[in-house]
Amino acid sequence: MLFTITYTGENPTDLGYLLHKNPARPQSADLSFGRVHVFYPETGPERCTAALLLDMDPLDLVRGRRASGGIFDYVNDRPYVCSSFMCTAISGVYGTAMSGRCAKKQELADTPLDLSASLFMLPCRGGVILPELLFEPLGYEVQVEESALLDEQFPEWGSGPYINLTIRGRVRLRDLLNHIYVLIPVFDRQKHYWIGEGEVDKLLDHGKGWLEDHPEKDLIARRYFKNLRSLARSALDRLDNGEWAGEALPPGNDEPETTGRPRLNTLRLEAVFNVIKKSGAGSVIDLGCGEGNLLRLLMKEKTFTRVTGVDVSRTALEHARDKLKIDRLPEAQQKRISLFQGSVSYRDKRFRAYDAAALVEVIEHLDENRLDTLEALILGDARPGTLVVTTPNIEYNEIYGISRFRHGDHRFEWNRARFQSWAGEAARRYGYEASFEGIGEADENLGAPAQMAVFVRVETPGSGPRSLPCA
Ligand code: SAH
Repeated sequence: MLFTITYTGENPTDLGYLLHKNPARPQSADLSFGRVHVFYPETGPERCTAALLLDMDPLDLVRGRRASGGIFDYVNDRPYVCSSFMCTAISGVYGTAMSGRCAKKQELADTPLDLSASLFMLPCRGGVILPELLFEPLGYEVQVEESALLDEQFPEWGSGPYINLTIRGRVRLRDLLNHIYVLIPVFDRQKHYWIGEGEVDKLLDHGKGWLEDHPEKDLIARRYFKNLRSLARSALDRLDNGEWAGEALPPGNDEPETTGRPRLNTLRLEAVFNVIKKSGAGSVIDLGCGEGNLLRLLMKEKTFTRVTGVDVSRTALEHARDKLKIDRLPEAQQKRISLFQGSVSYRDKRFRAYDAAALVEVIEHLDENRLDTLEALILGDARPGTLVVTTPNIEYNEIYGISRFRHGDHRFEWNRARFQSWAGEAARRYGYEASFEGIGEADENLGAPAQMAVFVRVETPGSGPRSLPCA
């Protein structure tokens, strides 16, 4: 599948700066469903074209996921057409350009330029009027090339349901990319990943500044969500109320989309579970347990005789209670688990006497200047034998095309160096040793999407007295 962008201007190769891809150096990267290549077929004095080629392996699409058992798993148009896979590739490869950042040529990134873009083999079952309906209101000139007749012997069958689409306009590059990112799925409605409420946030984030005024916004929302009316309604309500997401992704939806591989959430919980199990712990406290996903895993393992969840949010605890079906557990099981409301910002005797503790995606919800207190409370006062802390790796946000934080309530997100220096320092201060691991598929330069620190206690008590707030 091919997607090209052409810039006609004074220094056309500036396109390389804007896309953060060097015109002199073709680049390739592995995605979970294939390989993506970026190269420049044309770098003349008047025009420069960047091409994104997505080379999908049809077998990769089936591998590692529960197949439906039908022939469709193996014989389908997915590897050959512009679909949501292309959107994933675009946000992966051009994520920074989509956010509009360009350290070297910010002014150019902020300026409408003469750009054109072509998408090859775009499914267009809504009739050829769809490209005009979608792109003309955004100021583009639209050119459509229909595919050949399905069978020359039977011209009445018409042409195939795919088009090559070229749009031309004077737009900022970020706008062009966001238009395409949102509108490809409007043409091709088969999303390769699960569509949940987080998808509404994504639509609003990428549609910011143009979708609310688009005359076809109803059609866009309906088709974007594959006619899942409740999500389309929620998107339209939020559009009409002028609310913008991206600032407020729900927890756990920080990875944009998965492709048959386990979600980052699952990988994270498994990583934490494995560390705790390997530590030999019998009792575990999950601090900031949310809806209890880690607790559920821990409860399945008999070696954990005491499992406790703590959260500052009563609603989260109620959800956890429901999800874990605590009231319906046999008595022996009920004795193993307990939940209570509490805050990791206040000293609490109930945090003490656990072999292991977890802080999974919690620290980034606290103000950075509260972390000293957190360290003192957990490492200094509660002193579990093992503490596992996970947090997003902000470097990876570039791949997600997220320009700031992954969630509206995050007070900070750290790169690997910052996280490791914080954890290393805290460990030294309180007699622990810290080690680090990435969680999720790592990028060569940006690391893994999530990062984990494992603190193992090496000294018994003795972190001198401190004056701390008390619950
Ligand atoms: N650990 C869970 C939830 C992560 S979301 C998981 O991985 O699924 C962050 C959670 O931290 C939320 O449930 C939030 O209510 C909780 N939280 C935020 N500040 C807290 C504090 N000061 N003390 C305890 N929990 C807190």
